Amino acid sequence: MVILGPWRSPLGPVAPPSSDQEQPAPLTMTLTPQEQTIVAPDGQPHTDSHGASLIVPSDILEEAAHVELIASSAQGTLADALSQDFTIETPFYAIVADNDGRGRASLTLPAASPDSRVAVVIDTTYLAILDTQPVNGVLHVEAAVTPKTLPDTPAPGIARDGSIHYVVLRAKSGSAASPADTGSIPGLNLAPRRAYAAEASQTNTYMSCLALFTRSSHRCRTDGRIYVMWLGEALLEPTQVDAIIAQTSGILKAYADKGFTAAGSNASIWIVVDRSVSAPQYSIRSEVIYLPLDSATSITGDKARRELAHELFHWIQDEAYAMTAAALSGAKTWWLETTAENGVFLIDNGSLEYNLKHYGQTNVSGAMLGFQAAPFTWGRNDEARYVHAQLLKVNMCEYSTDCPISEKDMIWAINRGRYPLNDAAAQAKILAHLDDYARYLLGVAPERTNTSIPLHETVRVGDAFGDIIQISRTPESEFSLRTSSSAPQIVQETPDGRPHEYHINAAIEQGGVYPLQVISGQSVQRGHPG
Ligand SMILES: [Zn+2]
Repeated sequence: MVILGPWRSPLGPVAPPSSDQEQPAPLTMTLTPQEQTIVAPDGQPHTDSHGASLIVPSDILEEAAHVELIASSAQGTLADALSQDFTIETPFYAIVADNDGRGRASLTLPAASPDSRVAVVIDTTYLAILDTQPVNGVLHVEAAVTPKTLPDTPAPGIARDGSIHYVVLRAKSGSAASPADTGSIPGLNLAPRRAYAAEASQTNTYMSCLALFTRSSHRCRTDGRIYVMWLGEALLEPTQVDAIIAQTSGILKAYADKGFTAAGSNASIWIVVDRSVSAPQYSIRSEVIYLPLDSATSITGDKARRELAHELFHWIQDEAYAMTAAALSGAKTWWLETTAENGVFLIDNGSLEYNLKHYGQTNVSGAMLGFQAAPFTWGRNDEARYVHAQLLKVNMCEYSTDCPISEKDMIWAINRGRYPLNDAAAQAKILAHLDDYARYLLGVAPERTNTSIPLHETVRVGDAFGDIIQISRTPESEFSLRTSSSAPQIVQETPDGRPHEYHINAAIEQGGVYPLQVISGQSVQRGHPG
């Protein structure tokens, strides 16, 4: 759920190899920079010695002064395998800057033949061949400007290369890779290439984006915009991959219908399914969404679908925000994460309740609940403050000067890369409405802010979030206490000759709340001291 990813060791938690399938080492490549072209953000084409050119719009960079178009040569097993099936017509291109850009740069690559195609190489390992055809001898790609390096804090944890490269390939005629010869290979959808984009949009027919690459375990399927890449025939069934494409497409359409402009663009979406990833991730380094195998194989389930929707919202944000700069700021990260959750709330009815259940008892650094922690900031590897999406939702309303932010304001801000709550007056409005937040958490409608926020079962019943103390009668005692919490929040003391008692020491930071549910038998009595 985090932007930068929770890889915990340099190589990430590696899943044990399956017992019945030996996993051969994946083919990869090493890239050696050969030529660097400095591209000013002047809206003009800058061309290198190979005939590749890049146009960078003037408004794309927040801090960096220029973009670099880097041409590299490739060595290694993947480069060798590619050169057997394809003529590699250009160097491998990366588009980088000191920080990531907003929007897109326009990359033009020379195409030697009508059959030339752009291939995308992610992390020097994953591969997709785009269906875009040459026009007047060139191929166009609207490419993201990616950061050369990631900020030191919060810890990026991204050990994988985090790179994206573009290259022009042409299938060698007469090789096993030519379309006429691959028609009988099982598992490949060889719909006529010229037709597939139109077909995909009308009938959800997806196809391989590596049908012409026969010499490795690289796999890729696409609908013409969304590219899902993985390694190994046995890892995923094509029907499972098509479900990922269908979910992604449906989520993007729902976001576009709500007014998030990037969702409705033609920009390609890269999704990598990788068994070594522990949770869904959006990488600001490569603009790639990584899915672990369990998400990929259960993508229609509530958890995987909502996590995908959250990561896709980060992709939408990345079109308008300079995300590497944002990652250094707790306030900006708070906005990007709580709006990502609120984006999901807008398109998925059960997700507001799901967020409260999922993060309602998550601690900040083991000391207090995310509820108690101050809003408008974000800790290193923060998992607890995702519940602050509830605070933002309670404060999202219309038609009143009391409203800190409206749904329209949020959509406008996401489309333009703004931070409307990084403002003392807006924050003061939210802090002035903590009583409305408490009302909602007690299962009662807010009075001044979001008066129509759904009062779902989790807030009405109230025993699935916050700290809980249960009072019951047991064979040993008339009056027995149990709690979901522990010191320092709730400290148990046993005075001489008396049953033990609880001392509630929960600290509440400014803008935080402390939901404490006291359950007596079956009834729930609740208080919100803050
Ligand atoms: Zn996130």
